[in-house]
Amino acid sequence: MRKVVLVGTGAVGTAYAYSLVNQGFVTELVLVDANAEKAEGEAMDLIHGMAFASTNMKVSAGTYDDCKDARIVVITAGANQKPGETRLQLVERNTAIMKSIVQSIKASGFDGIIVVASNPVDVLSYVAWKESGLPASRVIGSGTTLDSARFRVLLGEYLEVDPRNVHALIVGEHGDSELPVFSQASIGAESLENMLARRNNPSDKENLDRVFNEARNAAYEIISRKGVTNFGIGMCLARITKAILDNEYSILPVSCLLNGEYGQEDIYMSVPAIVTRDGIKEVIELKLNEEEQALFAKSADVLRKTRVE
Ligand code: NAD
Repeated sequence: MRKVVLVGTGAVGTAYAYSLVNQGFVTELVLVDANAEKAEGEAMDLIHGMAFASTNMKVSAGTYDDCKDARIVVITAGANQKPGETRLQLVERNTAIMKSIVQSIKASGFDGIIVVASNPVDVLSYVAWKESGLPASRVIGSGTTLDSARFRVLLGEYLEVDPRNVHALIVGEHGDSELPVFSQASIGAESLENMLARRNNPSDKENLDRVFNEARNAAYEIISRKGVTNFGIGMCLARITKAILDNEYSILPVSCLLNGEYGQEDIYMSVPAIVTRDGIKEVIELKLNEEEQALFAKSADVLRKTRVE
């Protein structure tokens, strides 16, 4: 059975639920929220679209008991950024919320995979892992999946190439200290470096910096206009869910536990990883150049300073 429980039916959670309903690869979706009426209302609204959905998926509002036989629990509960607020500023409020949610999930007898989106996502994924007692391979943060998707689209626009042919990642914190891995980027089968040399445009350096900054700052720009970001992250969470349920072995930049990779230990950070039905199968250690290594270490320092006991 492809059962998913969603905890948190706010802007992000409902965008994710709506993506699932439209994509039709889940058989059952249960919505849980501290505001039970909200979860009920959202379930009713989604169910009414079922006449037009591609599969007859069961959607309902429920409780933590529903986690017992779920394959995946996705957590999107907690406070979101207000205009001008950083993700890291949410840490105290959301650490307490994450701990109580994971305790309730655990009490149900849940034995699947937890996917965390609540911010600061790297710090909260670590909290969820510690609190859950699950192997780290089964607690995954959405991490820089969203940032990397934005980056690929913007790079594709700049280079005039389909973003699906742009293989480029943002790694580190999902937040202000994240970094682009230009040294390992490829466009189709060609390295980015080769493509740039071939095209020989003197303003590339400046433009690539602009592209990265636009990807990194996208959330601020969106929040200043519409108050939240939700559709992009909803689609990213659906992508991660599908990689797990379909046992895809897809490489996605997710937040996962580092055990010496990239010179870091006992910390959740976003790096490319192979995602399967068992969660993280392998953390991929890219060969970062010196500047990227230094930025990655700095990002790790920022995250370590943000932890709350
Ligand atoms: P929102 O305020 O719209 O929704 C949050 C929901 O969580 C509400 O429905 C609230 O009732 C529920 N909630 C609060 N405490 C709870 C608890 N203890 N148990 C169960 N439910 C609880 O917020 P949002 O815009 O949906 O954002 C949710 C989180 O997702 C925020 O932390 C935000 O920063 C994060 N986010 C992450 C990404 C990403 O890329 N990882 C992107 C966008 C937003």
